[in-house]
Amino acid sequence: MGPQGSGKGTQAKLISDKLGIPDFAMGQLIRDEVSNKTEFGKKLNEIIIKGELVSDVDAANLLKLRLQSKDTENGYVLDGYPRNMDQYNAFNFDKPTHVILIDIQIEESLRRLGSRVTCDVCGQIDSLKNGINIGDSCVCGGIWVQRADDKKEAIERRLDIYKKDTAPVINKYEEQGAVYKVDGSGSVDKVHDLIMKIIT
Ligand SMILES: [Zn+2]
Repeated sequence: MGPQGSGKGTQAKLISDKLGIPDFAMGQLIRDEVSNKTEFGKKLNEIIIKGELVSDVDAANLLKLRLQSKDTENGYVLDGYPRNMDQYNAFNFDKPTHVILIDIQIEESLRRLGSRVTCDVCGQIDSLKNGINIGDSCVCGGIWVQRADDKKEAIERRLDIYKKDTAPVINKYEEQGAVYKVDGSGSVDKVHDLIMKIIT
């Protein structure tokens, strides 16, 4: 868990690689299911093309389905989920062993997200600081764009929502003794080391 720009997606991938377990972000799970054109995927697609949001119960059921695969036997990483109490209540079929809370200052969050670019086709995320320019081509053939929700006011609004929605979820996991805070201000490698010390 962590606010936008905390690097939680990057860290989730690193943990996944290191431990050889899959990592899931709910948005990606939904996109995968839709593009696999399963029965459930078709149902989700109907919701999405109507412009509606996939319900927390549907999203949780999708995760539950995915967890039946063998590759999750030794565990899995959830990237930024559950992020509010409705999702927490829907995610009632498993309990995390470690809830890693990546802590960063709002100024750092803004600085990082302000330079964030996203591929409009594959959804990969990178940074203007890595020499990418808006409009350049991604390896997949897509174009690097700055998403509207990576602009300053949108970021501040999302950070507010994050704080308000996520605090009660964190409280719940704190009561279970599962929460570990990590200082997210250092480099990607440094934060990864801090996390691996906690997990292992
Ligand atoms: Zn791409």
